[in-house]
Amino acid sequence: MLTNKYPLGFFPTPLEKMNNLSEKYPDYQLFIKRDDNSGLASGGNKVRKLQYLIYEALNKGFDTIITSGAQQSNHCRQTAAACAQAKLECNLLIGGEKPKIYNGNLLLSQLLGAKIHFNGENRKGEDIEGLKIRLEAEGKKVYVVPYGGSNLLGACGFIDAVKELKVQLLEKSLKMDYIFFASSSGGTQAGLRLGGDLFGLQTKLMPISIDKMGYGDKTLAEAVLELLNEGQKSLSIKKAYSIDDAELIHGYDSKGYGVVTPNEKLAIKELAENEGILLDPVYSGRAFYGMLDHIKSQKIEKGANIMFWHTGGLPANFYYSEELLE
Ligand SMILES: *Cc1c(COP(=O)(O)O)cnc(C)c1O
Repeated sequence: MLTNKYPLGFFPTPLEKMNNLSEKYPDYQLFIKRDDNSGLASGGNKVRKLQYLIYEALNKGFDTIITSGAQQSNHCRQTAAACAQAKLECNLLIGGEKPKIYNGNLLLSQLLGAKIHFNGENRKGEDIEGLKIRLEAEGKKVYVVPYGGSNLLGACGFIDAVKELKVQLLEKSLKMDYIFFASSSGGTQAGLRLGGDLFGLQTKLMPISIDKMGYGDKTLAEAVLELLNEGQKSLSIKKAYSIDDAELIHGYDSKGYGVVTPNEKLAIKELAENEGILLDPVYSGRAFYGMLDHIKSQKIEKGANIMFWHTGGLPANFYYSEELLE
């Protein structure tokens, strides 16, 4: 299951120490895993998932992909790039109305050759079925990549990522106590958890909730738990999961998805000015703020090794330039 992937990115992504921030917050050793450098049209965490999803689509003879997301969806941009590489037609179902000016991820998705369909209020793929039927009527073989690439197959990307991290930790003789990351459609979180249990990673996951809305009638934790249970069976992990294994850290998502607050701005500036690394205002900026808050308010015991898993998102900065500068 973990070996069937179509190569799309640059792996392993670097694991680096944040020297300047570790000096600034001397109670902790701070590290960063650079999935923002995973390749594929400016990087991000969806590359890992797409390697598995695109492999399956090609292997089963599909020629057309549909996926969905918000206007500044990194997932849609990376899917568009993956489709270009794999010679698949890419259809993106994008929330909202067609804007006058394309910017950030939306601009890149267009440049990458995706067919973009705007569908108003819906940004989580609610209308995928209708589009699929229309494309199939034209004779296309349509493979649906779920919202955020977050089914079990997509999550395999992050199960596999744990193996990659374990090798890096061994090489550097490091033990990581905490991993902070942005969690929003659940595939990254479920994959890291399943991988952690499969490969024996002794690290506490700190998933920062980005989007306070769940999925239809499910909370994100419930969706993550479903992925954990499915993965537990497929991978024969000897463990029974409960909702406690799928919980997220809330408290940084109260303004809602894609709303840039002083928190995200502070986090972006902090990492940029101290380490020369750029976050994004929707996901990684929010999650990094959550990590900084845990560090500054000493919610974590002194002496801990803490890693931030940078999940990418750079292009969205250009879309949010006004909010970021004001
Ligand atoms: C999609 C995304 C996430 C969230 O990952 P999920 O697996 O969907 O929870 C985090 N950061 C960035 C930059 C993303 O694009």
